Amino acid sequence: MELGFIGLGAMGSKMLANVIKAGHSVTVFDIGQAAVDAAVALGAKKAANAAETVRGKEIVLLSLPNSAIVESTVLGPGGILEGAEQGLLIVDLSSITPQSIQKIAGIAKAKGVSIIDAPVSGGTAGAQMATLSIMVGGEQADFERALPVLQSIGSKIDHVGAIGAGDTVKLVNNLLLGVNMVAVAEALCLGVKAGIKPEVLYQIISNSSGNSYALTAKYKKFIAAGNFEPGFMIDLQYKDLQLAVDTAKGLKVPLVLGNIAQQAYEIARASGLGAEDISAVIKLGEALCDIKVREEAQ
Ligand code: NAD
Repeated sequence: MELGFIGLGAMGSKMLANVIKAGHSVTVFDIGQAAVDAAVALGAKKAANAAETVRGKEIVLLSLPNSAIVESTVLGPGGILEGAEQGLLIVDLSSITPQSIQKIAGIAKAKGVSIIDAPVSGGTAGAQMATLSIMVGGEQADFERALPVLQSIGSKIDHVGAIGAGDTVKLVNNLLLGVNMVAVAEALCLGVKAGIKPEVLYQIISNSSGNSYALTAKYKKFIAAGNFEPGFMIDLQYKDLQLAVDTAKGLKVPLVLGNIAQQAYEIARASGLGAEDISAVIKLGEALCDIKVREEAQ
């Protein structure tokens, strides 16, 4: 299939590699030159802007940081709607607000362009191994059109409702991830300060009732190794918690833990950790407790 792909960051670059591996012909765009060069080295063609990326294409995939950037990439000058032909399908793999994707879909529909929201879960490891979970909102026919492409990047693909439903499920998931990560950081700091080796804590808890994805995905590769290269950036987790907080306020749903967790990431951002992996939130507790949760440091 002839595809476009816009946004070649931590997730997009790895999803692109799997789309190309599946035999699709892909034209790409990113504002970062290094990201585009790496994509071209994989066999992609490069475009000068979003409009050029979608000319003559059936489907375009987006993996962009936030709602404002997705909106400008679709609706703005040099954006997708300028280059789109009737029948183009936009598959938005980014995590953005349900309201934003619904607004974009309404404007695109009037120009004969369809959209599904298809946010992903599984981190950069899942993106690399093509084992992402993908939660899709939109029309059934559009879901079926996108399915062969989605199957090249994910292994658990669900159509969860109308446009925006995928982003809603995703913000609920990432509310839980954000809270769990802060909880893991706090608990590990307590255990280490109390004199237990972090590898002992990990070995026991990962097989006990305190286990979580945040612990198993983030302990060995990130915390224990002292490697906080993202991964999933604190700035993006903060944004996802904002999506949850805004949605909860609109529905009058109390979000006690979500708001507290977001403040932990706010402190991390104020400390200069915004571009580090979410596991770097543990550095706040480490500084306060004067410890390091590292295997080599124990
Ligand atoms: P990233 O910051 O690494 O990548 C974003 C890419 O978009 C960058 O290459 C950037 O140059 C590009 N970009 C920014 N503005 C642009 C524009 N106007 N036009 C073209 N390109 C532009 O982020 P990421 O970690 O790859 O995340 C992408 C999306 O996926 C986000 O919505 C994030 O919340 C979501 N997500 C991330 C993860 C993860 O583990 N990193 C997991 C699931 C979902």
